Amino acid sequence: MTKKMLQFIELKQETPVKRDTSKRKADFNEIYNEFITDKAKEQSSRCSQCGVPFCQIHCPLGNNIPDWLKLTAEGRLKEAYEISQSTNNMPEVCGRICPQDRLCEGNCVIEQSGHGTVTIGSVEKFINDTAWERGWVKPIKIKKELKQSIGIIGAGPAGMACAEELRKSGYQVTIYDRYDRPGGLLIYGIPNFKLEKFVVERRTKLLKDSGIKFIQNFEVGRDKSLYELRKKHDAILIATGVYKAREIDIPGHNLKNIFPAMDFLTASNRKGLGDKVDLFDNGTLNAEGKDVVVIGGGDTAMDCVRTSVRQKAKSVKCLYRRDRENMPGSAREVGNAIEEGVEFVWLTSPKSFVGDIKVEAVEVNRMKLGEPDSSGRRRPEIQVGSEYKLKADLVIKSLGFDPENLPKLFNANELAISQWGTIKINLKTMQTNLDGVFAAGDIVRGASLVVWAIRDGRDAAVQIEKYLQTKIDKNKSSVAA
Ligand SMILES: Cc1cc2nc3c(=O)[nH]c(=O)nc-3n(C[C@H](O)[C@H](O)[C@H](O)COP(=O)(O)OP(=O)(O)OC[C@H]3O[C@@H](n4cnc5c(N)ncnc54)[C@H](O)[C@@H]3O)c2cc1C
Ligand code: SF4
Repeated sequence: MTKKMLQFIELKQETPVKRDTSKRKADFNEIYNEFITDKAKEQSSRCSQCGVPFCQIHCPLGNNIPDWLKLTAEGRLKEAYEISQSTNNMPEVCGRICPQDRLCEGNCVIEQSGHGTVTIGSVEKFINDTAWERGWVKPIKIKKELKQSIGIIGAGPAGMACAEELRKSGYQVTIYDRYDRPGGLLIYGIPNFKLEKFVVERRTKLLKDSGIKFIQNFEVGRDKSLYELRKKHDAILIATGVYKAREIDIPGHNLKNIFPAMDFLTASNRKGLGDKVDLFDNGTLNAEGKDVVVIGGGDTAMDCVRTSVRQKAKSVKCLYRRDRENMPGSAREVGNAIEEGVEFVWLTSPKSFVGDIKVEAVEVNRMKLGEPDSSGRRRPEIQVGSEYKLKADLVIKSLGFDPENLPKLFNANELAISQWGTIKINLKTMQTNLDGVFAAGDIVRGASLVVWAIRDGRDAAVQIEKYLQTKIDKNKSSVAA
């Protein structure tokens, strides 16, 4: 093995420098500076090149991490890029927003041995940002356009990854999306300070330049039924994500200035993209000068509290019914929020919203952790008589998402769904109960991660291609007979 590797004992772990807290609170730009080339090489050389790479096993895409780390350490960046993009349709996105502490980096062998993980996500971002800068990322040039066409519903990461893989094989691909811009939650959910929008927009442009057709402002169910799309295309992929916000049914829930997380984040992202947003412009969805209370402990809640800080809220509190160790959100994002001045009120649950017309306070119960529930996590229990009030003039509810009623929305009562409302698929073929209709991403898994949506999109592409090929073979044999 090259002498360049196995440097983890001599070389300390370093991540790209985080921008100073006061500076990053003042804008919506990403919070990490770029790795410089020498630093990326140095940090890559810490990899121990272990025989069984646990990082790769725990990456949902099975990325060949040790290979691209070694190539980066040797300064062979173009080859590192080729390998990185061969398993991932959006490596520069994943490098930025995967919860690496739970995936690749959390399972790095040198992390387990106490030396601090190789900073895999940062190197992945570095390799692929370099590739974009140097013009190595090129649109797909197909050898021959095939006659068959695939209609994809949803321009999020699952739909886009599937579209790209099918286009590589020469299929005609059309993506339908109800928003005015492609990208799904990458564009209107995840804030700029985690993922700058130009990163998503250049990916979409690449797909358009590759011959994939995007039809925006097109809602399946409203503009065409699923049946009509099935007649138009040889196969369909449903990749619509999950958007129904979970509600809190407590007294006062109808008071004004209580909003679901996506209303707040979409308004903020739209403003960042230069759109006119009436509810933001008239102050309703702007946290400036307000006492903000965010309810929930996941990544979306972290995005809401950190957005509120950047909008110059007077105070920002995050209520979570368990403790810090049991938060579902990424530990890294919780740390970032604390650095930026967010106050976490652990072991607290809302009891009622207080106010006449508008919310003025949240009455909360203190909680304690009881015995583990069926998921193995300790169950939060109310401490009787512990109620107190927290001042609030903007409350953001971030309790997770459920699927919309797709059979109803799509005018397709025959489409089978699970008890949770997610679409049922055959896990081998990724096909729904309808012939030629496949599904992938959050609408199958429930709210998940970008990296899993990409994985599902890629798997669906393989299965759709198999299905179309079988259809051609069947037609040929029936003609021959
Ligand atoms: C605020 C927030 C922050 C997040 N942060 C992270 C993070 O840091 N890291 C991470 O890995 N994951 C994160 N996630 C999760 C991640 O964004 C999702 O798991 C991922 O985007 C799912 O991809 P998808 O393609 O299945 O769906 P989506 O990204 O939701 O895309 C679905 C698309 O389908 C379209 N659509 C829906 N219905 C219709 C219809 N009837 N007709 C036409 N089009 C339709 C929608 O407009 C949308 O564009 C976050 C999620 C949220 C909400
Ligand atoms: S895609 Fe995500 S899990 Fe896989 S190597 Fe990259 S950052 Fe790690």
